[in-house]
Amino acid sequence: MRGPTPIEALLTIDLAAVAANWRLLRDMHPGGAVAGVVKADAYSLGAARVGPALRDAGCRHFFVAHLAEGVALREALGPEPTIAVLNGFAPGADEDAALLPVLNGLPDVGAHAAAARRRGRAAPAILHLDTGISRLGLDAREQEAVAADPSRLGGLDLRWLMTHLACADEPGHPLNAAQAERFAAICARLPAGIPRSVANSSGMFLGPAFASDLARPGCALYGINPTPGRPNPMRQVVRLDAPVLQVREIAPGDTVGYGATWTATRPSRVATVAAGYADGYLRALSGRAFGVFAGQSVPLIGRVSMDLIAFDVTDAPPIAPGAAICLIGPENTPDDVAARAGTIGYEILTSLGNRYRREHRTT
Ligand SMILES: *Cc1c(COP(=O)(O)O)cnc(C)c1O
Repeated sequence: MRGPTPIEALLTIDLAAVAANWRLLRDMHPGGAVAGVVKADAYSLGAARVGPALRDAGCRHFFVAHLAEGVALREALGPEPTIAVLNGFAPGADEDAALLPVLNGLPDVGAHAAAARRRGRAAPAILHLDTGISRLGLDAREQEAVAADPSRLGGLDLRWLMTHLACADEPGHPLNAAQAERFAAICARLPAGIPRSVANSSGMFLGPAFASDLARPGCALYGINPTPGRPNPMRQVVRLDAPVLQVREIAPGDTVGYGATWTATRPSRVATVAAGYADGYLRALSGRAFGVFAGQSVPLIGRVSMDLIAFDVTDAPPIAPGAAICLIGPENTPDDVAARAGTIGYEILTSLGNRYRREHRTT
């Protein structure tokens, strides 16, 4: 016997695919380690589940953006793996979580070095050098200051020198080579022997000049294509199925949804589905997306509203309340949905709402 029909949508996250994606990247990068970037709750897929799955696949280094994400991830991962915090944190703020701060400017360097000297114990950290994205990281003047006076780094136990590429997903962009050159030049003027970390997901596909001692892929682990415009080498991870609440017959001339933007031109069947922009099914998809039911594509009609969307199921096999329409899946991947919304797959994933029931599959 089945229980009552669930009225919430089901977001299925394939942890075996995440692990397979990580192993594929690791095998591509035999000269260095491959981390897992699990910031923003592993791009909304659940860092508490994704983190341990990556650890069990052999991943030893993790990146988050916020201190709180790092503290929570430490709970999930146990004491062994490195957990680095991209946005940094004040000395001691990680308490017992043993997190690795990314030092993004001279003030960070000064604060952590001074704290280490006070404690009489070297402070592990990552030094972030900006080579062209102009976001975080020591800028050219700060880099000059450190190269001219390496004693500023005294007290720090620098585990990696890091930079971040601005245009890794555009292999032909001249900034990629420029950043690699600037990074090599500044690293050569800093204390020797510190391992380096350069590539994000797309950066790993740019060739040996971008290989480093520690790659930092995020999106590719979650099935986003790191090589836009070329076939996606990654396995799909996410599937979103949303329940049909009602099916109604409408007549030619009837309209669907706010603003009456869709008008039936023939007797039509409309399936109303429980998902909307409050769940991260972006309003920009209005009239531009499709779902899949019984292997058949069904067009999204009218505007996406907060909690509801409508599909034209006139030409689909019979469909009844309780059936599910696939909003993200093999035929409509996060990258496909993103293209229809005018955004990127990252935003589709990180927008996935918390009203979905998340099911993490391990096989
Ligand atoms: C988010 C992030 C990554 C991962 O990027 P992807 O494009 O998702 O692989 C790597 N490094 C830094 C500094 C980041 O902010």
